[in-house]
Amino acid sequence: MTSTESIRGIIYKDQPCWIPSHMNYGKLAIDRMLRAKDKVALIDGKTGQQITFVELVQLVVNAASSLIRLGVKRDEVVAVCSENRTEFLITTIATWCSGATVTFLNPAYSKNELEHTISISKPKYVFLSPETHNKFYSTIVRIKIVEKFFIFGDSVNDATISKFNDLIKTYVNIDNFKPVSDPVNGLAQTALILYSSGTTGLPKGAKLTHLNLITTTNQPSHITKDLVFLSNAPWSNTFGIMSTMDELVHNRTIVYLTRFNIEQYLSYIQKYRVGVLLAVPPLVVALTKSPIIQNYDVSSVEFIYSGGAPLDLGVINEVKQRFKGLKHVLQGYGMTEVTGTLTEETDTESKPGSVGKIAIGNIVKIADIETGKALGPKQEGEVRVKGATLFGGYIGKNLKDELDDEGYFKTGDICYYDEDGYFFFVDRIKELIKYKAGQVAPSELEAILLQHPGVKDAGVIGKPDPMVGELPTAFVVKMPGSTVTDKELVDFVADKVSSWKKLRGGVYFVEDIPKTPSGKILRRLLRDYLKKPVSKL
Ligand code: AMP
Repeated sequence: MTSTESIRGIIYKDQPCWIPSHMNYGKLAIDRMLRAKDKVALIDGKTGQQITFVELVQLVVNAASSLIRLGVKRDEVVAVCSENRTEFLITTIATWCSGATVTFLNPAYSKNELEHTISISKPKYVFLSPETHNKFYSTIVRIKIVEKFFIFGDSVNDATISKFNDLIKTYVNIDNFKPVSDPVNGLAQTALILYSSGTTGLPKGAKLTHLNLITTTNQPSHITKDLVFLSNAPWSNTFGIMSTMDELVHNRTIVYLTRFNIEQYLSYIQKYRVGVLLAVPPLVVALTKSPIIQNYDVSSVEFIYSGGAPLDLGVINEVKQRFKGLKHVLQGYGMTEVTGTLTEETDTESKPGSVGKIAIGNIVKIADIETGKALGPKQEGEVRVKGATLFGGYIGKNLKDELDDEGYFKTGDICYYDEDGYFFFVDRIKELIKYKAGQVAPSELEAILLQHPGVKDAGVIGKPDPMVGELPTAFVVKMPGSTVTDKELVDFVADKVSSWKKLRGGVYFVEDIPKTPSGKILRRLLRDYLKKPVSKL
């Protein structure tokens, strides 16, 4: 094997990763960004507004000093609830510097989801954009957990809400800036809380430590050439925030989008001579289908980096036809619980159909599902992982419960690796559904369906779909005498969840939901139902 070492079925990348002794991810990020000085760091695609690395660091340092002055403390939680905008990143990095924990409340959440995540992470401070202020402010106030609000921009005038712009006003000399008086305990201290349902159950708060973040973004860049990146991934999810921080720490310029629109997307490629597209698979599919691509000069694109869900080899070949300058479509595979990346292809190491080699910091075995024994090359088994990227557990739960006897986290994914150390994704055995790379927890939708008076029992699975990955699909047992229709149930759920969790696969009425003697839904049998005709009545 080349860079991947394998000892008795244990696979890891045999390369060192530099960990600074201060162990503060915010400090590492600003130190690394300062190396790029006056180079452009971020471009807001829509407004064209640009900010250089040194300007970005200056604002982070000003904001962090204000947060510390305001009394924001280690282990307190600061939440950002906003679409992508530069203030989002400034607040996030400033919070890391201050030693507090940051979490993101997805602006696409329904009010129920927002309440659920706030009740998990209990933020003391919340930063809102004008849009999320409109949508969520009164709901958050009603929950009575948050003590102080901040607003991005100048358009909202409310005496009870502080202005983010006031936090960045006071100039602090970068050279004299001390991130935090109390040293960060990077091994144990939570830097970031993201939400994931893991292998089963409702979304939980996954705690990522400073060490997790340092290890993940402090690795050598997967694309060595200095190119402009374009990303439409929301920063409130794992792929969005980790890929963005990764590129900033490697001093790459990023053009970001707030909302996706294919015409704008293509026009930004042309305008900013974009070299790398950071994309989830449905976006790559959309690029293969769009008839307007020929109206734009997209010859600058050399790489597409896709992650978060499987990308079909046929789609890769198709997209190559449309981007004449394209050298590689690189894939990465990972999850929230390992701080984003577990394996990745790079510009020098790639293989068709694979999701690449182990990224630094992960120690992996492919385990026999029955015995847990580590398997060798070309043998399919569950991916199990430990190492410096492995999260600190879910809030309120014991990490040990997620681990096998040897301390490996059970991912619920099936993969194999070949003799050269390349990994290939095979299947998912956990409950999770992925619609356009967004997480959908079946138990969340089942719990909602069971609230309907016409529903006696429910089971939810993902229906495979070539455009979006999987469509959330429900099987429902009606209450005796109920006349509820499939449309009523689709609407009932749609009312309570984010758009990506809607029952787009429909509702099938059945006599019973197959279960194990202990009451666990046999989702495999529900998937089998889809292969044969099932009554919709
Ligand atoms: P998340 O925590 O939302 O990033 O979801 C992680 C899960 O997404 C993984 O456990 C996989 O099941 C799936 N996933 C991520 N990347 C890929 C990929 N490249 N190919 C197939 N599935 C993926």
